[in-house]
Amino acid sequence: MNAHPRAPKGAADPPGAGQTVRTACPYCGVGCGVRATPDGRGGVSIAGDTQHPANFGRLCSKGSALGETVDLEGRLLAPQIHGRTASWAEAIELVAERFRSAVGAHGPDSVAFYVSGQLLTEDYYVANKLMKGFIGSANIDTNSRLCMASSVVGHKRAFGADTVPGTYEDLECADLVVLVGSNLAWCHPVLYQRLAAAKAARPGMRVVVVDPRRTATAEIADQLLRLAPGTDVALFNGLLAEIEARGAIDRAFVGQHVTGLDEALAAARSTGIDDVARITGLTRAEIAAFCDAWIGTRRVVTVYSQGVNQSSAGTDKVNAIINAHLATGRIGRAGMGPFSVTGQPNAMGGREVGGLATMLAAHLDIQNPAHRAAVQAFWQAPAMPTEPGLKAVDLFRACADGRIKALWIMSTNPAVSLPQADDVAAAIRACPFVVVSDIMADTDTMRLADVALPATAWGEKSGTVTNSERRISRQRPFLPAPGQARPDWRIVADVGAAMGWADAFDWANEAAVFREHAALSGVAGRLGMDFDIEALAELDDAAYDALAPVQWPLPRAGTRRAGATADGRFFADGGFLHPDGRARMPATVYRPPASTVSADWPLRLNTGRVRDHWHTMTRTAKSARLSAHMAEPYAEIHPRDAAAAGIEPASLVTVESPYGRAVLRALVTDRTPQGTVFAPMHWTALTAACGRVDAVVGAEVDPLSGQPESKAQPVRLTPFRAAWYGFALSRACPRPSAAYWARARGDGLWRIELACDAVPSATPLGDAASGTAGRGAGEAAGEAAGEAAGESDHTAAWIAYARALTGAAAGAEVVSVIDSRGIGVRLAFVAEGRVEAAFYAAAEPVALARAGAVAAF
Ligand code: SF4
Repeated sequence: MNAHPRAPKGAADPPGAGQTVRTACPYCGVGCGVRATPDGRGGVSIAGDTQHPANFGRLCSKGSALGETVDLEGRLLAPQIHGRTASWAEAIELVAERFRSAVGAHGPDSVAFYVSGQLLTEDYYVANKLMKGFIGSANIDTNSRLCMASSVVGHKRAFGADTVPGTYEDLECADLVVLVGSNLAWCHPVLYQRLAAAKAARPGMRVVVVDPRRTATAEIADQLLRLAPGTDVALFNGLLAEIEARGAIDRAFVGQHVTGLDEALAAARSTGIDDVARITGLTRAEIAAFCDAWIGTRRVVTVYSQGVNQSSAGTDKVNAIINAHLATGRIGRAGMGPFSVTGQPNAMGGREVGGLATMLAAHLDIQNPAHRAAVQAFWQAPAMPTEPGLKAVDLFRACADGRIKALWIMSTNPAVSLPQADDVAAAIRACPFVVVSDIMADTDTMRLADVALPATAWGEKSGTVTNSERRISRQRPFLPAPGQARPDWRIVADVGAAMGWADAFDWANEAAVFREHAALSGVAGRLGMDFDIEALAELDDAAYDALAPVQWPLPRAGTRRAGATADGRFFADGGFLHPDGRARMPATVYRPPASTVSADWPLRLNTGRVRDHWHTMTRTAKSARLSAHMAEPYAEIHPRDAAAAGIEPASLVTVESPYGRAVLRALVTDRTPQGTVFAPMHWTALTAACGRVDAVVGAEVDPLSGQPESKAQPVRLTPFRAAWYGFALSRACPRPSAAYWARARGDGLWRIELACDAVPSATPLGDAASGTAGRGAGEAAGEAAGEAAGESDHTAAWIAYARALTGAAAGAEVVSVIDSRGIGVRLAFVAEGRVEAAFYAAAEPVALARAGAVAAF
């Protein structure tokens, strides 16, 4: 498997075989601690870190399977320029020259970086410094824009800074936990496990789930509020109005610490309870029960995630939730507060270094002259932008219309994950110069690169990440970097030096980058900001290596940041970050999703995630265990919508919008409400023929946060009809040629689903001559149809198709059963007494128990 063995490189190498390294999971924002023990042969055994305060030893399915994702199959191991292998020196010089010449000819805003919540804080810091301080543009945005930008803006509007006030412990010690737009069970599984365990231990604790879908998270819910998509503002305005009506406003807290209550109440009151019921589709009784629980429980935590953020009204949703907490003073104390959980492992770290186009480093503000001057002085920077840069959607539009001349994409796959993904792919293709740094040689985005730069992966790289509760953890290496792969921060620093700023980008190691980042946060702290880790600014390399998980703020000894409390929370006693020290309650008004359904586009598409895959599956698709959970892209469709569109369970369905289409397996279920369709966003052109769901989603964004509305795209459904449907298992990776296919890895095998427009034969369907046929060893059935002596064209064509698909060896014996009356094909290729591949085809979706077939294989 490891075609390119990992070569130890000397003193800086990670520990050897059998030595356990404590690190952090690279997937979701829970930020679990992991104990990794390499076996010395490129493998690793994985266990939860019992001492890590995020997970106390727990891991979810994805974290547990990390050891199955660290092989070198598919890795990019050397720089490539237009597909040819190049030296690092050549690649760095070319990147530097193209960015330098674009800036020289067209100005700093003619270039852009699109980065990722997968990057470590040190990577992010260096990229942000290069773009904002030295190139002089704010055109650096991150895929975290798609995940939690609305929370960032909501926090800044309410608190004056992007502060998460609470801790994970709050979910355990609350008496009521409200989960809004969050399938915590699948998307933040260990946090869900902690919540479920707390509820089991303390049955009086209640959980309310607010979500149009009935997800796995609802299994622990005392109340499930299946509100209409996008109507959260109406629900929380209704709650705020009830808080006032029942005399539950904490007048002392508001009087001392909050501005804007009257305006927020006026807006909330304008949506009466009947309006709330009409807009949300909930009954008055459901709304009243929710208000009873929320208002009647002092220790309440409201957790929210993508269902809130990924909306054209995302920022208002966030503020409507925070308003209820501010009005009741339920914030910053044990078991109380609004709580945004981030999708990515280092979305928070990215926010801390200014990885968003709208932020400066250390939570400082680009448009604040004092903040700009402080950062410029700290960096000794030649040029600083005075305005925010292009947010993700606008950034790719600027590529499409020619404003961006050079683009660098780091550690992310926007040709799959951005809305209007087909347009984004075309925009990247149109950009004159595209650099992609990634760990994988082949992704949808990498295919569009002029220069491909090999980055180190989890297990090889070293740095820090910050989880959803502001806890900084070390990611430590336990495998040597393979081939010529380098850390992202080092690649960016080398380009910065090659562009002429060697002194500013001269760090000995990632610890030195971290020290600089921590020192800059101290500057921010003295400007009154919340993010301050100056206490870590003088860690020596050994102390950095040994750094235990720590929660910020961590100001220099003897100082305390405004709003911070001694128990690690924020705002229990006010101290908000607006200049007057008071929080704001913006007046929020419900508005429906930006695009309306119509007779042509009658359903709303809600995109999301599955339990066992991560983003575009570049790593999780390597694991048979994880791939077994959901082996195909699918659409959850309500039974009445399925019936109306003529869609049978387990058939294929085309999901279409004005922007694009996807072909998905129909999962007919009332888990998704009538009028909506749910589809996960993980599948790419590498794993499915037509499974890129974000190609269907339009690029409507929240006007304040720029976060796309990924959960409300009007679509229509039509049955996808094919001449035949197939299923195959093979030892080799299948090479499909079909209108529809989706492949997944099994244990020592691959599985693939197929649907084709035409049978692989000139012989018309139902007109074939052969009946049951068997083939002897040595027959070269893999060649073109008709070559197999003694077989009909029909049979030979099926065999040829199956052989080409599965890569079965020419010498493999073919055992076949082919129905002459229609399409009923069963083939097996056997070599040296072992089945190499099995192929099934039928005129209807193949009725075969997949798990049984995989087990038999
Ligand atoms: Fe990793 Fe998140 Fe699972 Fe924890 S909950 S093991 S951080 S994916």
